[in-house]
Amino acid sequence: MTFKDLKIIEPILKALNAEGYTHPTPIQQQSIPILLNGNDLLGCAQTGTGKTAAFSIPIIQFLYQNRNDYQGQRQIRALIVTPTRELAIQIGDSLTSYSHFTGIKNAVIFGGVKQMNQTVMLRKGIDILVATPGRLLDLMNQGLITLRDVEYFVLDEADRMLDMGFIHDIKKIIAKLPAKRQSLFFSATMPEAIVKLSQQILGGHPDKVVIKPQQTTAEKVEQKIYFVSKRGKIKLLIYLLQTEPQASVLVFSRTKHGANKIVKSLNLADIQAEAIHGNKSQAARQKALNSFKEGTLNVLVATDIAARGIDIEELPLVINYDLPNIPETYVHRIGRTGRASASGTAISFCDSEERVFLRDIQKLIQQNIPVITNHPFLIDEPEEASENEQAEKPRGRSTNFSPKKRNPATQNRSQVNRPNNRNNFTKRRS
Ligand code: AMP
Repeated sequence: MTFKDLKIIEPILKALNAEGYTHPTPIQQQSIPILLNGNDLLGCAQTGTGKTAAFSIPIIQFLYQNRNDYQGQRQIRALIVTPTRELAIQIGDSLTSYSHFTGIKNAVIFGGVKQMNQTVMLRKGIDILVATPGRLLDLMNQGLITLRDVEYFVLDEADRMLDMGFIHDIKKIIAKLPAKRQSLFFSATMPEAIVKLSQQILGGHPDKVVIKPQQTTAEKVEQKIYFVSKRGKIKLLIYLLQTEPQASVLVFSRTKHGANKIVKSLNLADIQAEAIHGNKSQAARQKALNSFKEGTLNVLVATDIAARGIDIEELPLVINYDLPNIPETYVHRIGRTGRASASGTAISFCDSEERVFLRDIQKLIQQNIPVITNHPFLIDEPEEASENEQAEKPRGRSTNFSPKKRNPATQNRSQVNRPNNRNNFTKRRS
């Protein structure tokens, strides 16, 4: 299937061609016809699937084909709300590329910077607004933005939006949207709260498109686990970066403080690295991101929220310094590599306390991640090593870490009931 088969108009085809997109991704194949048909859409898909183009292309096409409906000053006819500044900027960049030959204009607004430049842009008139919720409400409250003309509304990364506490802001924004509109709702996961929110936004019976994570990342990305003590992690990271240097490595840290500490230790080891997280100024984050994209900075250490929306072609290596306790977050993280057709590697460090997370991740991706045992920091503290593990996994061999088979129905319950009995693999020596 080609974009032409999807009835995309010539000026957009030209732009997609310039971007090097030859074939639509699965989410684009499924969503574009629904959206061009004027239907609401509930999309269960994560970043990395091509979802930005899936919703951007029909919006640009619609606005281009109906460009004479409005005379005089441009009005905001499409609103895309997304949780982070990085993601907003990237959506804006994509819109600018895809609409290059159409004359459709977009603007991006987000918090953490002065509003002046943003309001100047808005005053000039735009067709599509990309916004984070806080700044959008702020400018709405100042009377600088009205949503009265919005015909297309996109809520992007809805689950992350809820995680970040934006639910009330979102509700206030929805209340100001015209009832007659086309709505698009995207979320990587669909817990109950998200389903409820989607019903509020989409109402009745939206068309649904589900792109499973396995199709996009877990199958494409080469994954490895390194069992290592908490204290050994930094040594292992330095060892890996020194022995197998890569052009661009994205390191995930669970906390902002942790990210800073990693950067400090790397710098002491003469490895140039920078951190991006919520406590850094927008300018510092953007600077680090740009250096990383340009290739002048090899190692970027990020928290999950800050890394959201980092879009770098052919990022070869992602390192999970900490394993996330939410398995879907793991899929998001490794999705930073192995994008589109490129393949990549995702390395995860796992200390004894994180093994329960590893088991949940393997259950979600339905794969056993190969364990690398030929490294010098393999559980270097005796109290953390399991007797079984040492017997079964001699150094210098790579093996598969297969959790002992348990009844999946009872698995979670037993973890909750026996928090100190971490799992079958970490029996402590007495
Ligand atoms: P997204 O899921 O929107 O973050 O997109 C992930 C990446 O895929 C971005 O780098 C896009 O530029 C790229 N992409 C989107 N659609 C296509 C396509 N049809 N062919 C190749 N790359 C694409």
